[in-house]
Amino acid sequence: MAGKYNEQDKSISCSVCDVCGGCSYTGVAYEEELKIKHKYVSDLFKGITECEPVTGMYRPIFYRNKVHGVVGYNKEKKIVTGIYQEGTHKLIPVDTCMIEDEESDKIMNTLCKLFNSFKYIPYNEDSKRGFMRHVLIRKGFSTKEIMVVLVTSDVAFPSKNAFIKELLKAHPQITTIVQNINNARTSMVLGKRNIVLAGKGYIEDVLCGCRFRISAETFYQINPAQTEKLYKAAIKAAGIKKQDTVIDAYCGVGTIGIVAASAAGKVIGVELNAQSVADAEVNAKLNNVKNISFVCGDAGEFLVEYAKKGKADVVIMDPPRSGSTPEFINSLLKIRPERIVYVSCDPSTQVRDIKPLIKGGYKVTMCKPYDMFPHTSHCENLILLSR
Ligand code: SAH
Repeated sequence: MAGKYNEQDKSISCSVCDVCGGCSYTGVAYEEELKIKHKYVSDLFKGITECEPVTGMYRPIFYRNKVHGVVGYNKEKKIVTGIYQEGTHKLIPVDTCMIEDEESDKIMNTLCKLFNSFKYIPYNEDSKRGFMRHVLIRKGFSTKEIMVVLVTSDVAFPSKNAFIKELLKAHPQITTIVQNINNARTSMVLGKRNIVLAGKGYIEDVLCGCRFRISAETFYQINPAQTEKLYKAAIKAAGIKKQDTVIDAYCGVGTIGIVAASAAGKVIGVELNAQSVADAEVNAKLNNVKNISFVCGDAGEFLVEYAKKGKADVVIMDPPRSGSTPEFINSLLKIRPERIVYVSCDPSTQVRDIKPLIKGGYKVTMCKPYDMFPHTSHCENLILLSR
């Protein structure tokens, strides 16, 4: 099974798209997809602002820098990796994917061969037995560093050294291998404990001229080519001046704030995930950025406290799909920053969140979608609210 790319109309086809559910625009010309996404965002923002055309990718394939596979058996009782059919525990084997990094897919295929020869029994979500659960591969597209994360149900890793040796022999480009222990009876991919089996235990990538450390469990944008365009536009829209205090809310490993810091007086990053905050602090040092600090906690709770006495000229926010919270939005209305840049991976929650801001005197002066996830149903949107 394999997918295909049509060079003429930039559409893709794939033999498992129906059961996978990842791509919703197979067989659709890319221009057409961008028009549909534009109409979707335009309709959401009707009566609020005009929506600019969607910024697409030049070559919208093999863009994902993070590849995930569930380990299981195929019909012939061979160990394979793939995806669960939506809403089930039925494994659909996947050996190539049109939107994933090609090299990572090759590593995944080697891993399957090795799992078979080393007889690593796949974990079964129903019986809760077995050893190998998931594989996660992350790649720094600009540094070429590659991290392989093997999620296992147990610490004891039979023939570990021989296995690592074989894997590195087949793919010397792998820079680090991490074992993640997940013995929880959940569908969460990663457990809490990481054991570094080879290399540094993390990778680095370069984005917008800054260097970032990425660990197994931290958030990092999955489409770096589009992320560069998005970040540049977001920082430009923020119109930061040398004395400005900037808040980078939902900051992940500190990417946007670190790139923006050179233009600002100071930046405060807020993030819930402790490992992301730890990485963000390292990232600030890596880039010699001294005017940024990070707070680990809920962005809403932080802003409620901050609004009591703190000031901010610009707030950049980039929450998860579920969007922000009323506490966060209400606190924004107390702080009254000159500009709010709202980056969203779900424009429907974005438009919900900004309604109180519009009532409170803000105007949406820019609405610019970015296609971060070509061929899938998702669309990223960047908006600017000015007081
Ligand atoms: N701006 C970053 C990360 C965006 S993803 C980037 O571009 O890379 C959203 C981030 O919000 C994730 O890192 C997630 O851990 C974090 N997050 C989720 N809920 C949060 C909350 N309630 N408070 C603060 N951060 C949160």
